[in-house]
Amino acid sequence: MRIILLGPPGAGKGTISALLVERYGIVQLSSGDLLRAEVKKNSPTGKKAAEYMNRGALVPDEIIFDSMKARINESDCLKGFILDGFPRTVTQADSLKKMFMNMQVELDAVINLEAPEELLIRRLTSRRTCSNTGCQAIYNIFTKPPKKDNVCDICGSSLIQRDDEKEDVIKNRLKIFKETTGPLINYYSSDKKFFSVPCIDADTCMSEIINKINI
Ligand code: AMP
Repeated sequence: MRIILLGPPGAGKGTISALLVERYGIVQLSSGDLLRAEVKKNSPTGKKAAEYMNRGALVPDEIIFDSMKARINESDCLKGFILDGFPRTVTQADSLKKMFMNMQVELDAVINLEAPEELLIRRLTSRRTCSNTGCQAIYNIFTKPPKKDNVCDICGSSLIQRDDEKEDVIKNRLKIFKETTGPLINYYSSDKKFFSVPCIDADTCMSEIINKINI
């Protein structure tokens, strides 16, 4: 099973990916997570990527494409994967198409998650992450608050708001999404594997996806 998951930041790509991973036994490849891991390692890729990520801008296509290509070629991806957050531009989608053709790999679904903008902003600004790099548990001040304010339930470290989850940066990410990722919907819309689903509630969204994928 090979899936591309599209949708603005905060649409629920992480949540839906986790449910798809559980159901189909495939791996989630999140370009954001991949880049954050490079930033944490302070690698040359991470240093370059952080300059863009901290202001909510997209990292250059070649940085992300090389990282994703290496990841897709790892052995755990043989049984299938979900691309979450990649491709984000038509250039990335074109490069990916060529790569899949060379690998003789077929996609099973291109899923576009939709949610109203106020909900996206609310979801993203309410997220908190454990500051302990070995833990990084994720909370939500409304839907999944820690037992004690600002303290991680698992390891007791303080919780932080990621720089790119602060309101002004989020508004910038949504603007960039509309400008650069919006055209991707057109790019894939003629593909018979493409469909859109509202993602207000994860369980309902997941049922619709399963119905449409029909595997
Ligand atoms: P995400 O967690 O998917 O929202 O990604 C966090 C940040 O990583 C984005 O705001 C971008 O700076 C960068 N990023 C993630 N995926 C991509 C991509 N496919 N192309 C360019 N930048 C990306």
